[in-house]
Amino acid sequence: MSFLFKNGRFWLAAFLGSAGGLSAQVAEPQVLPLDPVRFAKVTPLGKVPDWEDLKRYAHTLTREEFESAWKEVYSPGKGLPPPFEVTADALLVPTGDPSDPVYKVPFRNSSEQASPPAVSWRRAAELPRLRDRPLLSDLHIALDPGHIGGGWGQMEERFLSFQAGEAIQEGDLSLLTARVLSERLQALGARVSLVRDRAEPVTEQRPADFEKLALATLQEHGILNPLPTYQGVEGDAKILTVQWQTEKLFYRVSEIHARASKVNLKIEPDLVLCLHLNAESWGPSTAPQFSPQNHLHVLVNGCYAPVELEQQDVRFEMLTRLFDRIHEEEIPLASAVADGMARSTGLPAYVYTTPNARKAGTNPYVYARNLLANRLYQCPVVYLEPFVMNHEETYRRLLAGHYIGRTLVGGRLQSSAIEDYVRGVVQGLVSYYQTQRRS
Ligand SMILES: [Zn+2]
Repeated sequence: MSFLFKNGRFWLAAFLGSAGGLSAQVAEPQVLPLDPVRFAKVTPLGKVPDWEDLKRYAHTLTREEFESAWKEVYSPGKGLPPPFEVTADALLVPTGDPSDPVYKVPFRNSSEQASPPAVSWRRAAELPRLRDRPLLSDLHIALDPGHIGGGWGQMEERFLSFQAGEAIQEGDLSLLTARVLSERLQALGARVSLVRDRAEPVTEQRPADFEKLALATLQEHGILNPLPTYQGVEGDAKILTVQWQTEKLFYRVSEIHARASKVNLKIEPDLVLCLHLNAESWGPSTAPQFSPQNHLHVLVNGCYAPVELEQQDVRFEMLTRLFDRIHEEEIPLASAVADGMARSTGLPAYVYTTPNARKAGTNPYVYARNLLANRLYQCPVVYLEPFVMNHEETYRRLLAGHYIGRTLVGGRLQSSAIEDYVRGVVQGLVSYYQTQRRS
């Protein structure tokens, strides 16, 4: 589950600002020359970019290539213009630095030879020839089990129980999926790294480390004397407490930043699979509600609202992904995995109606969103959102865990939802690398 629809919190989360990509449109026009202060903002725990790093992208993309990627993937598709300017021969980006307010990235002239920037990951077509080895040989896949699970599941609001003595947690199910998937992918020759291999955070920070930042965030939004804890607080008012804010900064923001460092600096994979399970709003955790809906979608990175791009780290990270041409590998990969998942789960496509997501490519299951994980991981990321955990039959199947074959669930013989998940991913990857790799 990504972070948007839980308990109908969209407007409040948007109000409090988001590191994870909630799109709120602003109604003011934007033109260069710029107001540097407006473009100097940085997301909570975000890194101030060194704009000189964009130097390596000089003369790598033509203006047409840049504009088409922006239009088809990275822009929200409609609405206000972005906070950068495309001229005939260069991209002009506001830096937020008053002494040097605009950084210029020259486009490649169509007569110039293309020399793509060096990246740490490899496209399917760049992998060594197979020469009769297993299909995923040489491929390094990082599996990122969404959330933390274990003793943290309730804090992360990813704990679901309809009856005393039974419960499922997204963080535990995603780790179980990763373990089963890891074995199958290794059997096909892949090298697999788990970004998290137990029900513990990757970050070394804890909620108490974020008290100052939480207070500042609340004050910025006019909450001058917030309640310290949410004990006894009902519903969405929880969000306005220091406790909720420090916890969110820990399990969402700091945790994803720590995982990104691990992925980018240590693992350096060719591909990351972010494993999640979706949910529909279930109301209070003490009295959750089933949903009649059950669906699947797969996310790629994109759909940056102009207001999100006013934050300099977001602007820089988006441009890095675009100039690295990650979308060229990520979208077809996501589409193949989505097809495999659709076949193995039989789930219909989820349809977004909110402005934070847009279609990317032609696959009905694939959407683009600006999430913290798929923005920070510097390689193709396929972010999976199958199953509605609070769909009654799905809940019972998930309670049964992972098993092979069929077992009696809710009076019917049913396959394991986790097994269907794993098979769908494997089938999707097999079909992609079968068509894209050199034999
Ligand atoms: Zn999730």
